[in-house]
Amino acid sequence: MNCPYCSYHDSKVIDSRDVNDGVRRRRQCLSCHSRFTTYERLQPASLFVIKKDERREEFNRDKLLAGIHKACEKRPLPTGAIDKLCDDIETELYHSGKSEIPSAIIGDMVMEGLKSLDYIAYIRFASVYRDFTDITALKQEVDILLNAEAEVSQPIEQLPLLLNGKPSGMAKSHRRRR
Ligand SMILES: [Zn+2]
Repeated sequence: MNCPYCSYHDSKVIDSRDVNDGVRRRRQCLSCHSRFTTYERLQPASLFVIKKDERREEFNRDKLLAGIHKACEKRPLPTGAIDKLCDDIETELYHSGKSEIPSAIIGDMVMEGLKSLDYIAYIRFASVYRDFTDITALKQEVDILLNAEAEVSQPIEQLPLLLNGKPSGMAKSHRRRR
């Protein structure tokens, strides 16, 4: 590990302690004497994603996170909600004990997570992932959500799908004057 300040290649460990799933080491650069921290963690066994066309690709957390971020763009979600969803999915994947997972399974996990987080993000993700070819399929999905919303009382953290009769994703951020 090179020094982040001067790139010198060697440092000494001045403190070392066990943390949740690894070791945290406080280091001091032997050249510029700056201090920095490193974490050592066990690399889980590789996990491969089987794509629709049967190609294998190593699981990439950043890619998963980017996909979820895109669906949640400009949605008023609580801080950390997206990272948590990504973490939960990643943990579940690694704990499944499988070395290969079809991309469809991961997509379903994201959809499930987004559904309980924000319907607009869910619909956005679904429209790309499920490849809705026409507006009818998309409308069916929205109808299912609206029916579910009407039947069950809304969980507090869920954002309403409709605001003043308009999809909440298009609602103005400022309050309308009464
Ligand atoms: Zn240095």
